[in-house]
Amino acid sequence: MFIRDENVFFHELDTRDIVDAIVILDIDGTLTCSSKKQIKKEVIKVVRELEKRNEVYIFSNNYDCKKSREIAESINIPYIEAPHKKPNKKILKYINETCPVITIGDKYLTDGLFAKFAKARHIRVKRYRCNDDSIMDRFACFVDDVAYAIAKLFHIVTS
Ligand SMILES: [Mg+2]
Repeated sequence: MFIRDENVFFHELDTRDIVDAIVILDIDGTLTCSSKKQIKKEVIKVVRELEKRNEVYIFSNNYDCKKSREIAESINIPYIEAPHKKPNKKILKYINETCPVITIGDKYLTDGLFAKFAKARHIRVKRYRCNDDSIMDRFACFVDDVAYAIAKLFHIVTS
C-alpha cells in the first residue's frame, strides 16, 4: 500500500494537486488536537482550498459524535452520518461516491487502512497534539505509530 506521507501538519499541506476527488478529512489530530473543538484559521484556509476543487467531507471515529458534528458544522463541511468506524469501507455508502476518494488523516490503522479497503488514496499528516489530550488518546496514537513503523519496516506500506 502506498501512503503519501507528507510529514507536515494539515495547515502546511500543499493541496494544489488534489483535484476532482472526494476528500474525507479526519478530525482528531488532523484538523485539531483530540482535546480541542476550535479549528484554527490556518486549518480552515486549507479546508477551503480543498473545497474549491473537490467535494470535502468529515468523518471521525471519536465516540463523541456530537463533538464531531459540531466541529464539522463550525467549518461548514458535511459530516458523514455513518454508523460505522474507520477502517470500515461501508462508510462510503453514506455519500454519493462519484469521484476517486482521498482520505487525509494522522492514523495508519484508521485513516490509512480505511483508504486501503476503500481502494482510495491516503495522505498522512503530522498529528496536532496538546497537553490536554487524554492518556487513552496518547496511548492509541503511540500504538498507531508503532503499527505504522512496523508496516513500513516490512514494506506493507511504502511512502
Ligand atoms: Mg485522527
